[in-house]
Amino acid sequence: MEDSARVRFAPSPTGHLHIGNARTAILNWIFAKHTKGKFILRIEDTDVERSTEKSERSILMDLKWLGLEWDEGPIVGGPYGPYRQIERLEIYQKYLEILKKKGYAYPCYCTLEELEEKRKSVLTRGESIPYDGKCFNLSDSEKRALEASGRKPVWRFHVYPVEIKWYDVVKGEISFEGENIGDFVILRSDGIPTYNYAAAIDDSLMKISHVIRGDDHVSNTPKQILIYEALDRRVPHFCHIPMILGPDRARLSKRHGATSIHEFQVKGYLPEALINFLSLLSWSSETGDEILPNERLIQEFNFSRMSNSPAIFDITKLDWMNGYYIRNTEINRLVDLAMPYLKGKDVDSENREKITKIISLIRDGVEYLQQIPEKVEPFLQEMVQPTDGQAIALASKESSQKIYWAFLRHLQNFDDLDVETFRKIMKIIQQETGIMGKDLWMPIRVALTGRIHGPELPKVAEILGKEKCEKFVRNLTD
Ligand code: GLU
Repeated sequence: MEDSARVRFAPSPTGHLHIGNARTAILNWIFAKHTKGKFILRIEDTDVERSTEKSERSILMDLKWLGLEWDEGPIVGGPYGPYRQIERLEIYQKYLEILKKKGYAYPCYCTLEELEEKRKSVLTRGESIPYDGKCFNLSDSEKRALEASGRKPVWRFHVYPVEIKWYDVVKGEISFEGENIGDFVILRSDGIPTYNYAAAIDDSLMKISHVIRGDDHVSNTPKQILIYEALDRRVPHFCHIPMILGPDRARLSKRHGATSIHEFQVKGYLPEALINFLSLLSWSSETGDEILPNERLIQEFNFSRMSNSPAIFDITKLDWMNGYYIRNTEINRLVDLAMPYLKGKDVDSENREKITKIISLIRDGVEYLQQIPEKVEPFLQEMVQPTDGQAIALASKESSQKIYWAFLRHLQNFDDLDVETFRKIMKIIQQETGIMGKDLWMPIRVALTGRIHGPELPKVAEILGKEKCEKFVRNLTD
């Protein structure tokens, strides 16, 4: 077993928790649990224009709903707080002073227009451009003159032309050339840090042992490594996990359907199914098993089985997995979960027993909770009318009519209709009419449910009860 890890999930509160970010959070959480370490939540809210408290609240709620409780972070606090970057500005300032003293940070007075000009002139040649280092060589008097003219500098990190290398836990050895990176901005003129600077400072101060994040951040990593090294701080392990693609192999986006955890929650996916599904997107258990509840994920997780190629988001598999968890969860919990979806139907705590029976009967065919109302509906109707052609034709057949009349006659002999009684009646009708199997059962099914297929008929009959069964069958007699 590895040493106890300290890992973090560092969302920017600029929208809902996206499926890709949720997967990053899940893997961090699993790895923390696997190593009996700590899972830290840090809010990266330095993009003041796009960050909102509302987004932060919704991300926190989604994480809680998934069951990803954090050991340190907003609300719970912790020894390395504050855990919102906007509350850490003094810390970034303090380390800027150290970087200045060490000759790594320098003020840059270039205006956006000047930079844009340079960018354009180079881009016409089709090259990307690192900053040309113009302000690195400014003399003190030049700096004073620029300040006097009212220019407020940003602070850049000076990158020496060296090779920056690391051994990525997922991707293996990765290297970048310093000269291709160029001197990058770490602090803006308003004192707000850039992502790379704030992330490196915080990961270092929060003693993060493993940075587990999406591989869209690979190109940021050399900049962060340079910052650790300039400050003589230990570089964490990096684990860059492959991105998630839609079935068309394009980056997962809105047009592939639901993409935020909230949308999946509303549709009725269970948190344990999402966790199981998302953790298997680029990882597999040595056992080859696919149904892996949290305890098993925690036990069996291991980076050596993490794939390096993009993961494909397959909604059919998620539906299958969610169906599995719906079928296997404790029935009372399932009824609680289903209740909000049944609002407006004739369902309340008084007929909970009946609803419980209905849900146990229909849950086998449910993939997500939003499908429950339409499956429950037939049991709550006051009248059933077959609508599809095949069912209508079947109901009017002579043999079906014979069955209906026999059913009504025999039903009179019983006070209640439970599973056993129903079977008994069907048996008697079979003996009496000589009709059996599908030919016997299907007309009754059509009468009781309006459909040709459905859950176990005796159970359906019991839930409907004697009165409704009688009414529904009579309705189809000529
Ligand atoms: N705030 C960054 C994001 O949401 C975090 C990246 C990281 O984990 O370093 O992409």
